[in-house]
Amino acid sequence: MFWLVCYNADLMGDQVEEIKQKTDIVALVGERVKLLRAGRNFRALCPFHSERTPSFMVSPELGIFKCFGCGKAGDVYTFLKEFDGMEFPEALAYLAKRAGVQLAPFKKDRDFERKERLRGINSLAFQFYHYLLISHAVGKTALQYLTGRGIRKTAIEMFGLGFAPDRWDGLIRFLVGKKHYTLEELGQVGLVVRGRGKIYDRFRNRVIFPLRDVRGNVIGFAGRVLPGDEREEGKYINSPDTELYHKSEHLYGLHENRSAIKKKDSAVVVEGELDAISSWQVGLKQVVAVKGTALTEGQVELLRRYTRNVVLALDADVAGDAATKRGIALADSSSLNIKIALLSGGKDPDAIAQSNPKLWQALVTKSTSIYDYYLTSAASRFDATTGLGKKRISEELVPVFLKITNAVEQAHYIRKLARVLDVSDEAVVDELKRYERREALGAERRITRSSSEVVEPQVGDRRGVLEEYLLSLLLQGGKRAMKAATDFVPSSLRSQAIRRIVETLFSKTSESFSAGPFIASLPAELRELAQQRYLTDLGEIGSDSDAVCQEIERVVAELSQMRWRERLNMLSLRIRDIEQKSKLTTVEEGRLERLKREFAEVSGQLSPEKEK
Ligand SMILES: [Zn+2]
Repeated sequence: MFWLVCYNADLMGDQVEEIKQKTDIVALVGERVKLLRAGRNFRALCPFHSERTPSFMVSPELGIFKCFGCGKAGDVYTFLKEFDGMEFPEALAYLAKRAGVQLAPFKKDRDFERKERLRGINSLAFQFYHYLLISHAVGKTALQYLTGRGIRKTAIEMFGLGFAPDRWDGLIRFLVGKKHYTLEELGQVGLVVRGRGKIYDRFRNRVIFPLRDVRGNVIGFAGRVLPGDEREEGKYINSPDTELYHKSEHLYGLHENRSAIKKKDSAVVVEGELDAISSWQVGLKQVVAVKGTALTEGQVELLRRYTRNVVLALDADVAGDAATKRGIALADSSSLNIKIALLSGGKDPDAIAQSNPKLWQALVTKSTSIYDYYLTSAASRFDATTGLGKKRISEELVPVFLKITNAVEQAHYIRKLARVLDVSDEAVVDELKRYERREALGAERRITRSSSEVVEPQVGDRRGVLEEYLLSLLLQGGKRAMKAATDFVPSSLRSQAIRRIVETLFSKTSESFSAGPFIASLPAELRELAQQRYLTDLGEIGSDSDAVCQEIERVVAELSQMRWRERLNMLSLRIRDIEQKSKLTTVEEGRLERLKREFAEVSGQLSPEKEK
C-alpha cells in the first residue's frame, strides 16, 4: 500500500521514518484540502475522486489518510505523490526541508536523475528568456509591447514572462554551447524542432510564458508572436507533450494562484495566458487558464483538488459550441459547482479586466447557474416562436433539467423553460416524465443484456455491520469506551479478525491508550482492518465520549440480542427435528426436554422491548 521504494539504503530508511514522524499530516493535507474535524480524525471531500459527501479521512495519530470511496490511502509521501505528483525523492526532500531534517546523501535512481536534468534544462531556458525580456536590449520591443498592453512589472515577475530572440539558435547556443546539454535532451523537453535536416529553436521572436506545474517547476512554454510578425505557425505556439508536460493535465496559473483559489474556495477558468495575467493584476487572483476552449478530464481532476466552485468565463460566441458544452458537462458530472460568466461583445477577460476591472469582478460575482446558461444558449440558437424551434429547445434542455436533484430548483427551471417556449408548466413536466421513462426503459434493456457481467454488490449483514461498528467505537473511544464494554465477551464476536483485535485491546491493562502504537503492535494481517475502523467517520458521536459509551452499550445489547435469537433459531430447528420422529427413544426424550428448557431460558433473555 505504501510505496516505500526499492532504493532506500538502511541509513535512508531511518531518515524516511524520522521525517514522517516529524511531519504533521493534518497540516500537510490541510494546506491543500479543506479538512473538518471528525472526532479524533479529520474528514474532507476526497480530492482524488468525485463525491458529494466526504469519505476522505486523515488520522493525525496514525499519520495516514484513507478514502473510503475510492480506496486511495497512504502516508505523507503517498499523499504528495498523489496530490502534487511528486516522485519519492522529491517528496522526501520537500518534507525534509519542512521538518528541518538534513538529508544524508543517497544514491538517486537513474530515471529520477535523468528527469532532474530535464527539469534543469527547462529552468535554465526560463532564466534565459526571462533575462532577455527584462534586462537585455534584445527584449526591448517585446517589453514595450507588454507594457503597452498594460502588463505590469509585478505581473511579469510573478508569471516569469520572457522573450525568445529572433534567431535560429539563440537558446541552443546557450544550453548546448555554454551549459553542455545535448540537442537530444533539448528535444526531449520540446525546446527544439527538426526541419529540413536542421535542428533549431522552437520559440523565435516570441513573448514567452513559462508553464509551471503546481509546485512551480517549469515544465513547458507558450510563445506569442509580436504584433506585425505574421508567422505561419500561428499566434500562439506551445511546447508539445513531453515527459514533463501534458497539455490536457495542465492549468496555466494554478501554481501562481493556488493559494488565492483555496482562500476564495473558487476558481475562475479563462482561456488564455493573458486573460489570467490581466485578471491577476486587477486583484481577481483565483484564475486559471485552460489554453483551449474546453476543459479536459485531467484539468477537472486537478482543479477539484483545490475547490469545488468553478466559474467558467465563456465568450458568448462559443457558448453553443459542442466542445464547450462537453467541457461543461464533464465538470458538472464530476460534482463541481459550475457557474458561467458570459462575456458579450467579443471581448475576452484580458480586455475587460484591463479596461474595466469592476465589470470583470461583477461578471464573475454575478455568474449565472449552468442551467440558465443552457437556457439562454438554446434560446439564442433556435427560434422559440416556431413549433420546430420549440421542439429543438426542449429536446436539448429536458435531459439537462431532469438531472437537477433539488425539486425546488427543478421547478424553477421548468417554469423558466415553459415561459421561453410559451407553453404551460405541465407540458414541460409531461415531457420530462416521458423522457425519463424512455431512459429507464433503455437502461433496463442495457442491464438485461449485460446481466451476466453484473456483479451483485456485497451487502454486509446487520451483524457484520454492527461488529465493525463496535470495533470503530472501541478504537476511537479509547480507555473510557473499553470500560463501557466491560461486560462484553469478545469470544461472542462472529468475525475472527475483529475478535482477535478486541481481545488484544481488552488485554491491555495500562491506564493510557494510544491508537497509533496499538495498531502498530498488531499482527500485520490485522493492521489494515484496525486502521480502517479507526479512520471510519463516526459523525457527531466521534467527538463526544459520553455518546460513544452510550453507542457501545446499545451495540453490545443489540449484538447479544442477535446472538440469543440465533441460538433460539438453532434450538427450534433441533426441537423440530426430534419432534418429527414418530417414536422417540428415552435418550431422545431426555434431549428434547433439555432443548425445550434451554429454549425457554433463552426466550426469557430476549427482552420484548428490544425486539425490532
Ligand atoms: Zn476518494
